[in-house]
Amino acid sequence: KLFSELGLSAKVLAAVEAAGYSEPTPIQEQAIPHAIEGRDVLGIAQTGTGKTASFVLPMLTRLEKGRARARMPRTLIIEPTRELAAQVEESFVKYGLDQKINIALLIGGVSFGDQNKKIDRGVDVLIATPGRLLDHFERGKLLMTAVEVLVIDEADRMLDMGFIPDIERICKLLPITRQTLFFSATMPPEITRLTEQFLQNPVRVEV
Ligand code: AMP
Repeated sequence: KLFSELGLSAKVLAAVEAAGYSEPTPIQEQAIPHAIEGRDVLGIAQTGTGKTASFVLPMLTRLEKGRARARMPRTLIIEPTRELAAQVEESFVKYGLDQKINIALLIGGVSFGDQNKKIDRGVDVLIATPGRLLDHFERGKLLMTAVEVLVIDEADRMLDMGFIPDIERICKLLPITRQTLFFSATMPPEITRLTEQFLQNPVRVEV
């Protein structure tokens, strides 16, 4: 299949072309059309398979349609580490070339000041590690009631790092009616339980 057959917007396709990708990877080919349709996706894939683009490209396509009032965050991506969160931000910048998308990277180890300023200005996309996201919420800084799409990435690593209670708390702060894209390299029983809790009738894609 070609990128142009997956349902991506013209702008996003142009960005993919500019990135020099000739064809979608298997996870992209299988996950992107369902993600664009609005289905929940369970992606079982390792890093290096192109899984980041498999959620960033459909999210960008969706963000072109409409804007939330007052620029509340419409998409939330949760990553286990600061490094992974920063990489996802780079992907949004790379593929979101022509779009005026405001992104806030909410990770620990840096001061709250700049992150607060960004949130106050209004953001479309939140990319966060669990602890820092909850810190912002507890400070009364963050409303997540307009989130349309949630991505939980590297779920098995979140489990290893003890983040599952945080993830469960975060999910309670989000609208029940939303799309959830869930990625894990492995599927231990605790992760299967989480997918049953968070995903509604998901498409399972395994690469
Ligand atoms: P990821 O699995 O998301 O960490 O991606 C691994 C690497 O593959 C990244 O450096 C991407 O830039 C690259 N990549 C993603 N999709 C494609 C594609 N369709 N063709 C070639 N490279 C890609």
